[in-house]
Amino acid sequence: QCILACPTASLNEKEDIDDVWKVLSDPDKFVVAQTAPSIQVTIGEIFDMPIGSFVGGKLVSALRRIGFDKVFATDVTADLTIMEEGSELIERLIHTPEKLPLLSSCCPGWVKFAEHFYPEFLPNLSTTKSPHEMCGALTKTWYAKKYNIDPSKIVNVAIMPCTAKKYEAARPEMTSDGYRNVDFVLTTRELGKMIRQLGLDFKNLPEDNYDEPFDQFSGAGTIFGATGGVLEAAIRTAHKLLTGEEMDVPDFEEARGQSGLKYSQVTLKDKTITIAIAHGTGNAKKALEMFKSGEKKFDYMEVMACPGGCVGGGGQPILGGKDHNHISLGYRHNRSDTLYNIDKNKSIRRSHENPRIHQIYEEFLGKPLSEISHKYLHTTFTPRGKHPYLKEVD
Ligand code: SF4
Repeated sequence: QCILACPTASLNEKEDIDDVWKVLSDPDKFVVAQTAPSIQVTIGEIFDMPIGSFVGGKLVSALRRIGFDKVFATDVTADLTIMEEGSELIERLIHTPEKLPLLSSCCPGWVKFAEHFYPEFLPNLSTTKSPHEMCGALTKTWYAKKYNIDPSKIVNVAIMPCTAKKYEAARPEMTSDGYRNVDFVLTTRELGKMIRQLGLDFKNLPEDNYDEPFDQFSGAGTIFGATGGVLEAAIRTAHKLLTGEEMDVPDFEEARGQSGLKYSQVTLKDKTITIAIAHGTGNAKKALEMFKSGEKKFDYMEVMACPGGCVGGGGQPILGGKDHNHISLGYRHNRSDTLYNIDKNKSIRRSHENPRIHQIYEEFLGKPLSEISHKYLHTTFTPRGKHPYLKEVD
């Protein structure tokens, strides 16, 4: 059953709490935490706060008290993922249409599913690394040099919504200059346990801010945590990159909501493209089969393995008891709504407007899809054949 729901078999959860406590107590290590966008609207539930409460400042505060040397927002590198993936979309639309549709690749559950069951689509996957891998790569290269820290002493701990991210962090290609990008992944629930072990009164913690230079992010980076969020963020930036003009309204309502597979059209300059959004691998399978048969074509698809996207991830707080099914759709709504509200109230809502993104390109990468970007921020995929223990999802 688990394997059907979780294509990475990552529900055989391995806790990393003890190992993280160990590096935190090592004075020779410089230990950095990064938090995925969805964590700031889910971890409060572990401490009896209402479903979908925004607790970003308390989260940073808790991580400092636990002993992390720096606390970074993965939302910043979500903005960077959008710069690279949006540029890939334009590159393929203009120069390599044979590599369309572009398929998002920031969900390791979906990537593993594609590697096993749809290897013929691997050339279509965006080669852009997922945000936590980008944050890890930049921490051990650009950041280490900028702040004169020996990269061999840096330990990057990612607080993520799922155990599939543990598998992703362990992939052999996820290294930079010989260092593993991300050393440990803790799920929301594991971090909740650490906060309890330390006896922190999470609800009453003061608000704190993320550390430079991974501290400022756009609303586009934040909505990554909800199904459709990556695609909405990418369209906002692709529109600007292709036309030189901003979309009239940044909201792309067609990308939102909990329906499992949806299609829409968007016009970028003189091109009208069809986009698809699937959450749950069963819906991804449906979309790919219809694409193959010619029944439904599309140019760009976002896939998230978990229903609702990362707000519904397997490492998030589990709520509901016997009413779990009834509550699950509701809590996904509440958590996503909070992310969309954060976006709405941000002064910067597009990844390409984030000053930290400008800084990273000016000081290190040059421009999207540059040689350095490809070296540190892009990856490859491996056809893996049908796994003897994995079954396809209907
Ligand atoms: Fe992990 Fe699920 Fe988010 Fe994919 S959708 S990254 S499997 S939480």
